[in-house]
Amino acid sequence: LASRDFHPDDTVISIKGVNIGGGDLVVMGGPCAVESAEQIDEIAGLVKAAGGQVLRGGAFKPRTGPYSFQGIGVEGLIMMAEAGEKHGLLTITEVMTPEYVDICAEYADILQVGTRNMQNFDLLRKLGTCGKPVLLKRGFSATYDEFLNAAEYILAGGNPDVMLCERGIRTFETYTRNTLDLSAIPVLQQLSHLPVISDPSHGTGRRELVEPMAKASVAAGADGLIIEMHTDPDNSMTGDGVQSLFPDQFAGLLQDLEKLAPIV
Ligand code: PEP
Ligand code: MN
Repeated sequence: LASRDFHPDDTVISIKGVNIGGGDLVVMGGPCAVESAEQIDEIAGLVKAAGGQVLRGGAFKPRTGPYSFQGIGVEGLIMMAEAGEKHGLLTITEVMTPEYVDICAEYADILQVGTRNMQNFDLLRKLGTCGKPVLLKRGFSATYDEFLNAAEYILAGGNPDVMLCERGIRTFETYTRNTLDLSAIPVLQQLSHLPVISDPSHGTGRRELVEPMAKASVAAGADGLIIEMHTDPDNSMTGDGVQSLFPDQFAGLLQDLEKLAPIV
């Protein structure tokens, strides 16, 4: 079902008037994690003012170590839904387990599957019937074929609204956190009709590389970007402050992107 052979035309996912896929560029921005109602409200205002369409923020965080901050949970979902509503933004948040799919679907417009869960098949099956669009991140060691097969689980479950997200893969290089695989963008678009989103934040792990790799992603044909932005990155509650843009950098990037591709 993910293959272009089966479905020659680009899939366009329409959510409350925003179209993802098939033309215009969609920008999703926000913190790695929802930290407080004030934080997510302030950042939502900045995302909107910069021209973004979707507010990102994790309420449930898949941390590498069990003692790290794990997210504020359902309270965070509620705070993010309120901020999105107030500022006229769609919202996207990560869901980590099948048990939490229903509650995440109640509060968010798009559900995100993280790189560590790309092959959590029980989760993917549950997302097939969740009634909300899904952004599926590529596993950091997954081939294109494995990635498309993971998407297939959601599609086969009855949910046609799947976006593919390249977020960097593991290579021998250690200077960057991951290696953003730019080739994935045209390859996935050739193999599949699903929208392709690029995540230059996790794809590089370094703030100074987010802007050039965001632009490169758009030049390569990405349908959208998901970018971490924080008002106080040095004090963010996850380690992802080092890859988060300052609000003025985020706004400047979106202005530059208008020259490359129209933002919805
Ligand atoms: C995130 O978006 O904050 C995240 C945890 O992403 P990934 O699953 O790509 O590491
Ligand atoms: Mn993050």
